[in-house]
Amino acid sequence: MSFSAAKWRGHFPLLAAHHDLHYLDNAATGQLCAAALDAITSHELTHRANVLRGTYRLAEQADAAYENARRQVAAYLNAADADEVVFTSGTTAAINLVAHAFGDALKPGDEVALSLAEHHSNFVPWQMLRARRGVALRFLPLMPDGRLDLARLDEIVTPRCRLVAVTHASNVTGAATDLAPIVAAARAVGARVLADGAQAVQHGPVNVEALGVDFYAFSGHKAFGPNGVGVLWGKGAALAALPPFLGGGGMIGRVTPGETTWAPPPRRFEAGTPPIAQAVGLGAALDWLRAQPWAELHAHTARLAQRLVGALAALPGLTFIGPRDMRQRLPIVSFNLDGLHPHDVCQVLDRHGVAVRGGHHCAQPLMEFFGVQGAVRASFAPYNEEGDVDALLAGLQDAMRTLA
Ligand code: PLP
Repeated sequence: MSFSAAKWRGHFPLLAAHHDLHYLDNAATGQLCAAALDAITSHELTHRANVLRGTYRLAEQADAAYENARRQVAAYLNAADADEVVFTSGTTAAINLVAHAFGDALKPGDEVALSLAEHHSNFVPWQMLRARRGVALRFLPLMPDGRLDLARLDEIVTPRCRLVAVTHASNVTGAATDLAPIVAAARAVGARVLADGAQAVQHGPVNVEALGVDFYAFSGHKAFGPNGVGVLWGKGAALAALPPFLGGGGMIGRVTPGETTWAPPPRRFEAGTPPIAQAVGLGAALDWLRAQPWAELHAHTARLAQRLVGALAALPGLTFIGPRDMRQRLPIVSFNLDGLHPHDVCQVLDRHGVAVRGGHHCAQPLMEFFGVQGAVRASFAPYNEEGDVDALLAGLQDAMRTLA
């Protein structure tokens, strides 16, 4: 299969309908691909019923569609077993699930290691755990360009460490985390590893087996799938060792007035009616993504991001955040223009049809590390083209002229 950005764009109905839109906010949410939209529509029109409850034909068809989606997700992640895939409402819910189911067994004196580059979703749940259980949080320091400083891993991942929870890629700098040394350090002290894959899954299939982590979390909406669904993948043994987080229908073995026993994973962690059509849509999106020519897609988005980074370097008064070498990062580019508020810059860019996000990007500890309140962020997907970079650069020139 040979890749063309214009052809790829054709798989995204919203973009096909908005010819003048330069959508560069893909780190916030990717556009919904036709494969997902078609699967959702077809499911809702032909197989809508609750799952794992009914014995009539329609309900069995809904069950089959839901479990097929689980297999599609497992295939994208190279998971050993589809039952290692837990559907949640998103990355945030997946991380909170681990923070409760795994974290609530921890005791004062135990440690959880994070980095200062985490999204609040992988920061606040651990602070809340600290308040509940008295665990200590240790923070992996950062190098000046925002990458995790792994030289100090042994200092942070101590024999008291029970879990290391780090981002697979930063939503601000795009810096990709080298998980192998982190997994090795955690294994050496018997700690588990959770990777926040919210910014990684949309850039190609993930191999959780090769990564060697215990838990992997991501959201459907960032992977060109629907909102309201996400995934917690957990190694079979790691999931089996956890108690449930939420109680309710579907997650039980047997309920008596005296006690309740739990269903095995993944159902143990899917209390209540799950996001059924959303899971079906996510499965279809990932199935479609899995068949894409990723080497070409990567080369294309890296070329666009590199061109932007190069052009930004030539602008007066511009501060760039993150590693400059595209081999160390994903196509997410954050920067500030001297004296201009990111929100004001975004408003001017909007007048040029450019959709980018400005602000702290739910990563205030990282912003503090860089000594800024916020930043403008352009994030690329394979449907972006040179014209999107041109429009962004023209908008920035306009912002510098009109806001200065
Ligand atoms: N982690 C990272 C790195 C993110 O970029 C995001 C969203 O921006 C999240 C977690 C939270 O994802 P969600 O809001 O879909 O739960």
